[in-house]
Amino acid sequence: MSIQHIQHQSLKHYNTFGFDIEAPYFTVINQVDDVPALIEHEWNVMPKIIMGGGSNMLFTKSPDAWIIKNNIKGINVIDENEDSVMLEVAGGEVWHDLVMFAVGQDWGGIENLALIPGTVGAAPMQNIGAYGVEVKDVIEEVKFFDFETETFKSFDNAACEFGYRDSIFKRLYKNKILITSVTFRLQKKYKVNTSYGAIQDVLDKRGIAAPIVKDIASAVMYIRQSKLPDPKIIGNAGSFFKNPVITTAHYTTLTAQYPDIPGYVLNEDYIKVPAGWLIETNGWKGRRIGDVGVHEKQALVLVNYGMGTGQAVWDLSTAILEDIKGKFNIELEREVQVY
Ligand code: FAD
Ligand code: NAP
Repeated sequence: MSIQHIQHQSLKHYNTFGFDIEAPYFTVINQVDDVPALIEHEWNVMPKIIMGGGSNMLFTKSPDAWIIKNNIKGINVIDENEDSVMLEVAGGEVWHDLVMFAVGQDWGGIENLALIPGTVGAAPMQNIGAYGVEVKDVIEEVKFFDFETETFKSFDNAACEFGYRDSIFKRLYKNKILITSVTFRLQKKYKVNTSYGAIQDVLDKRGIAAPIVKDIASAVMYIRQSKLPDPKIIGNAGSFFKNPVITTAHYTTLTAQYPDIPGYVLNEDYIKVPAGWLIETNGWKGRRIGDVGVHEKQALVLVNYGMGTGQAVWDLSTAILEDIKGKFNIELEREVQVY
């Protein structure tokens, strides 16, 4: 069956925090041709939550909404020349499976994004990024179904209005559209990006002087596994907060009191400060409150040790926000989508 409508569905296995929240109305969509049929359904009068892998979501209570889970599969090569290849990938494909597919063909562009949980359809939402690469750099087109106009549409890269962990889909179109496929341009003659963090160190230790994409993906996977909690073992949604961008003047003021505060210059007016450093400096790293807490190796990641609740994670995140505001006069912003 290509559409499955379920009432009273536990979301325990559909969100990476592992919270056992009940979805009153839950639908799994398996084929793109069935998407328009959703608007004929009696549940269409309700607000919707479009879901992929649930790895960027926090449920604090049972959602008063219709959850539509995208499970549409398919990877198709739609254009190819001697330099590059164009792939149209269905929104329900697992992101890391796509990375492994590309790496297996020795196609470059997404190897630094290995091991990011979730689906291809969610990747443009917050313009997923890691280790110096953002997915916007390889996206040609995003196809989606618009529930308001009841039509299929497509946006080219510019129309997606990509920004740092941001896009038009995360703002204007949130839960108003379902991304059915994403088209990527990957390179056969690529230049690998080893500049970020520990990638070069890992390659050096492994004696790899001329890395290909599989070496980069392998190094990224090794680094990630050594510092990030696996949601299958400890519930989490990755970085809970975005890295704040502050003015250069504000940064200069802070350096007087905190000479070692890290900052990455974006332009002459703005500097990005790692939220993890702010949270760790204020003593939150490894702190546990009941069955939720701040991960011991990565202060940006809030975790559920097993019996925690979404509300407890929300309360913890609020306490951190207020503390950082009080100490550094910086407003952190939650990256995770809260329901
Ligand atoms: P979901 O959590 O299901 O949804 C996220 C948002 O996208 C929601 O607003 C949802 O409504 C919307 N959405 C999902 N699918 C669709 C669709 N088909 N159409 C329209 N809207 C849709 N993120 C990074 O950017 N970089 C990282 O390095 C990274 N590392 C992570 C590590 C861990 C351990 C974890 C748990 C998370 C990490 N994340 C990272 C966050 C997360 O994996 C990404 O944001 C991912 O893209 C979310 O995919 P998902 O399918 O799980 O989306
Ligand atoms: P890290 O390498 O310890 O760096 C800490 C922070 O400093 C990162 O957030 C990163 O910002 C910034 N940074 C480091 N080197 C930088 C550089 N050369 N230029 C610009 N900014 C730099 O970070 P980490 O926590 O181990 O994560 C590694 C990568 O995986 C990061 O890119 C991070 O975004 C990504 N990641 C994301 C999530 C998520 O849920 N969103 C979860 C885990 C990991 P950026 O975040 O902007 O890169």
